[in-house]
Parts: sequence; C-alpha cells; structure tokens
Amino acid sequence: MGPSTVTIISGTISAVSRHLGLDVGGTNLKWAVIERDAEPRLLKTGRLPTDTRGGEQSVVRQLLDVAQSIFSEVEGIESVGVGMPGVLDPAAGVTRFIPNIPGQWDGVQVTGEMTGAVKKPARLINDARAFALAEHGLGSGRGATSMLGITLGTGVGGGLILGGRLYLGHEGTAGEFGHQTILPDGPRCNCGNQGCLEALARADAIAAACGQPSVEESVVAARAGDRRAQQGFRDVGRYLGIGASNVVVLVSVDRIVIGGGVAAAGETLLEPIRQEIRRRVHVTDVERIRVVCGELGTWAGAIGAALHGSA
Ligand SMILES: [Zn+2]
Repeated sequence: MGPSTVTIISGTISAVSRHLGLDVGGTNLKWAVIERDAEPRLLKTGRLPTDTRGGEQSVVRQLLDVAQSIFSEVEGIESVGVGMPGVLDPAAGVTRFIPNIPGQWDGVQVTGEMTGAVKKPARLINDARAFALAEHGLGSGRGATSMLGITLGTGVGGGLILGGRLYLGHEGTAGEFGHQTILPDGPRCNCGNQGCLEALARADAIAAACGQPSVEESVVAARAGDRRAQQGFRDVGRYLGIGASNVVVLVSVDRIVIGGGVAAAGETLLEPIRQEIRRRVHVTDVERIRVVCGELGTWAGAIGAALHGSA
C-alpha cells in the first residue's frame, strides 16, 4: 500500500489519507490515527504514561519513539499533529510555556524533530484548540458553522471554529477563552492577569466554590441537594455563561461544546451557562444556539491534533 489508498465509491474516485495525532498531557500520552476522505473517521487509538523523568527531553524523545512505532505498524500515514497544553508558537513548531508538564519548555522545537524522525510534515496545536477541531469534525459540533469549544479541567481552555475552520489569529493563540477578564478586581490568574475566567472556573476554583474537596465530590453533593454545592455551580456557571455570552455577541457562534474532566458535571453546569446566555445576549436568537457536552471523551485531543496535522 502506498502513501494514500484510492477507493472507488459509487463511481467517484476518492483519496483516503491517514493522519496521526499525539496528545501530550502531564499524566498520559494519547494517540489516534484518523482516516479521511469526505468525512474523517477514527481508525486506531492508544495511550501510555507520559515519561517526564527527564523533563522536556524525555517527553520529546518519547513522542518521537511512539510516532515511529505507530508508523511502522500502520501503513500510509501522511502527517503528524502534536497537541500540547499551554502556550505554543505553532508557526515555528516550538513550545513556550507548559505549566502542567515537568521540564524547561521555553523554545523546545517539536515539529522539526518529529519531521526528522518520521519524514512527514508535522504541526503543533494547543490541546483546547485540538478539542474544538475534533468535536467540530467528528463529535457534537458536527454541522455547526461557527463553534466555541471550551475545555474545563485543571485550567479553562478554548478554541474557535469560524466559518467551518479553526481560527488561530495572527500569532496562533486565538481562542484563549479562559483568559478573558470576567471580574475586574477578581482573583489573580496564573497568566498574570486578575479576574480571568480560568481563575474563577478551573477545577480547584469550582471545588472551593462548592465547599468540597474536588469537582467530582461537588457534583455528587449538588445532585444530593447540598445547597452550597448547588450555589457553587450556579456561580461558576454564571461566570462561564458571561464568558460564552461575550463570544456569542462578538462572533456569533451557533454551537458551544464543552469538554474536559469537569464536563462530567453535565446539566448541573450546562443549565446555568444557558440561563446566563439567555439573560445576556440580545443581538441574536439565543434559542438557536446549542450548548452541549463533547462526544469524543478522552480521545478528542489526539483526534484534533491528527485533524490539524492533516489540514
Ligand atoms: Zn488568565
């Protein structure tokens, strides 16, 4: 089999191509191979613990090793996408600031090393942008013209699909949903600003607002009728809803897809977000904007990285 397989469907010729996506986190390295012709689909996935013993060097070494072994196992892969959490320089293929993976990440060349290892083009993408791409291509964002993807977990990430394409802005950082100011004099954020949405809606802030040790326990408490936990979710949902309303007013998305560990809270969090959007947005028909959870779960980041690499 060559680099791309040609399949004949109902008399039309369609080139099927394969693309690898790697999703590097502080705990796991996940990968996915997608196949695409008219529609992308998932072919194969895998995961292993991230090797952080030697900081950024062992992480990058492991990325290259994993990619090479998948290339030897799966024929016809044409590109590689690498998704990482944090601030990246996607044009240069270099990492800038990755707080949740041990190592000195400022200026680490990832895509050049990858291309050297597998002899195929490689691209770098922020993990939340990868989530948005994946949910738009294969998940609950399918069919949306414009979509906001939100990831809720240790931090608050985002990605914007505008006119059917991922929007990255002039330096590749567009979509940083979590670092918009919500409270002018609010709590200090890790980015240096005060009152960012992330400082109010990341996992530990939600647990604190609910008076529980973790988000999981906050969900259980809220569902069992605990008043403080219910109020905590209303408050956090309100902040997220204000952030989402700002995005709706500015760029008029028709779908908002929420993922990440905290999305397991489901309607407990989604309903306050919808209520806030109804309260705040008066320039477009809010009943036509769907606020939903992601469908792809743990593989969204790797799938999105593969899609980005294939673009
Ligand atoms: Zn911030």
